[in-house]
Amino acid sequence: MEASPENCSVKVAVHVRPLIGDERVQGCKECVTVTPRKPQVQIGAHSFTFDHVYGNGGCPSSSMFGECIAPLVDGLFQGYNATVLAYGQTGSGKTYTMGTGLKEGSQMGLIPQVMNALFNKIETLRHQTEFQLHVSFIEILKEEVRDLLDSVSMSKSVIANGHSGKVTVPGRPPIQIRESSNGVITLAGSTEVAVSTLQEMAACLELGSLSRATGSTNMNNQSSRSHAIFTITLEQMHKLHSVSPDNDTPYEDMGEEYFCAKLHLVDLAGSERAKRTGSDGLRLKEGIYINRGLLALGNVISALGDEKKRKEGVHVPYRDSKLTRLLQDSLGGNSKTVMIACVSPADINAEETLNTLKYANRAR
Ligand code: ADP
Ligand code: MG
Repeated sequence: MEASPENCSVKVAVHVRPLIGDERVQGCKECVTVTPRKPQVQIGAHSFTFDHVYGNGGCPSSSMFGECIAPLVDGLFQGYNATVLAYGQTGSGKTYTMGTGLKEGSQMGLIPQVMNALFNKIETLRHQTEFQLHVSFIEILKEEVRDLLDSVSMSKSVIANGHSGKVTVPGRPPIQIRESSNGVITLAGSTEVAVSTLQEMAACLELGSLSRATGSTNMNNQSSRSHAIFTITLEQMHKLHSVSPDNDTPYEDMGEEYFCAKLHLVDLAGSERAKRTGSDGLRLKEGIYINRGLLALGNVISALGDEKKRKEGVHVPYRDSKLTRLLQDSLGGNSKTVMIACVSPADINAEETLNTLKYANRAR
């Protein structure tokens, strides 16, 4: 398949959330401005242009799904892998934007909207195509992959084995990222839940979100230090027919067409520097590991975004972290990638907001 530049591109959107209660209480002023009717953001003397800017005078957040994400859902039905990444400091609105949280806003988040669009589209195509959906939900913490849905597979195996009473959790081998000879990345040992309804898929999102590891830091005790990756795999079996010229046999079986594509929805770890969390020891170590994934992601995305480098077949450093390794077959090539840089408008966050905008700017 010929890769058009359109397919290779990484789209970058900025989501500026409103000032939140905490910031208002502290008397924060807004330091991020958006140019009316332009995808342009200013902070201090810096100005950046992106593909889209939402919130704070930019486009309404409600148009983000239709403009940025719906095309990726459509692409899935044509067999294209895709990745959505929410990047930003802790408290900037990543979880709110993705809808990986459990509380407020999760209904308006992108993942619930993806699910709706996916099942609506399947409904319209059901008569001609057979669909199979799987979801997995994992997190990467300190360069280790953890299954957020292992309670699902456990309860299923308990039911299957007819256990009653005491359940022993077998020591599961660590999850491994594998690459097949045709470049397909799989996660060996992680739970893949087969789902056939919107409700089943939503239950997986909720269960995994509950299970997600959180560590308290001075910045936000709800925040996670890990990358959370919710993956939807769509398999399609499409029966091909043609009308035959003689009316005796109106349909000729032309065989089947099979597509498999996956969409990764990633709520990245907080991008703030470890020192800003005011923590030490273990927390600092986590900070360093998290930065490895974000650093590698920045390098991969900027290598992909650079058309000149791409033409020269420059090395894309996927292997530098678990995060980029896992996303390897869904970043670049024929896949579509959207990065959503989440920022707070508050002046106390100006330094990290500038860092986020610079990081996102590298991706273009
Ligand atoms: P992160 O996941 O980046 O740490 P959260 O998504 O948890 O940040 O958001 C931090 C706080 O800001 C939460 O209380 C959340 O409800 C609020 N918030 C984030 N984005 C928005 C938004 N667009 N509108 C209103 N409140 C928001
Ligand atoms: Mg979060």
